[in-house]
Amino acid sequence: MSARSAAERRENLIALMREMQEQHECPLIATRTKLVFGAGNADADLMFVGEAPGFYEDQQGLPFVGRAGKLLDQLLVEIGLRREDTFISNVLKCRPPDNRDPLPDEIEVCKPYLFRQIELIEPKVVCTLGNFSLKLLTRSNTGITRVHGEPQEHELGGRRVKLYPLFHPAAALRGSAVLEQLRDDFSRLPPLLAEPEPEQPRPVQPEPDPASQMDLFG
Ligand code: URA
Repeated sequence: MSARSAAERRENLIALMREMQEQHECPLIATRTKLVFGAGNADADLMFVGEAPGFYEDQQGLPFVGRAGKLLDQLLVEIGLRREDTFISNVLKCRPPDNRDPLPDEIEVCKPYLFRQIELIEPKVVCTLGNFSLKLLTRSNTGITRVHGEPQEHELGGRRVKLYPLFHPAAALRGSAVLEQLRDDFSRLPPLLAEPEPEQPRPVQPEPDPASQMDLFG
């Protein structure tokens, strides 16, 4: 864990958001209304990563404020957490037209910002919501149905982090079986958050300079 304070993390995140507003070269800028950078506690232990903003997110500039977001809020309350305790982000920060799936070139342009968010926030647990964030952050093609509810460890934003794959809340709104699985997976989040953080690899020590070891006068 770095020594950065919550205020520093917040300032760094705001600077990253400004950078994105000014320099982000996303093909979706032409059709989106607002950038949806992500929102929540810059010092959170728990981070959620969804797919892309939808209609309401695009209007308000905030993530998960539509029906899927209301379900996410409810599931959090059921395990004793609030959205303000977490940081919520997406793979894409701009809405794709008609909520179509993100395209590979859009993901490519956006992903450095997601990795920098993770680096700045240093969460203990990153929950992926649905397949797009799962496949991006695990760098694997294995889908959510096979791995939901099973914590994994990955290097994200320069640190070993627990990644917890969850169904997307929008999928849970479409079917009660998925909702039950999502609720069950959510119930295992508090003990996961209480576990110790993954051990971080020790920084590589620079090789000693042979000249400094030599006794030239000996
Ligand atoms: N779905 C997402 O993946 N992200 C949002 O912000 C809203 C809906």
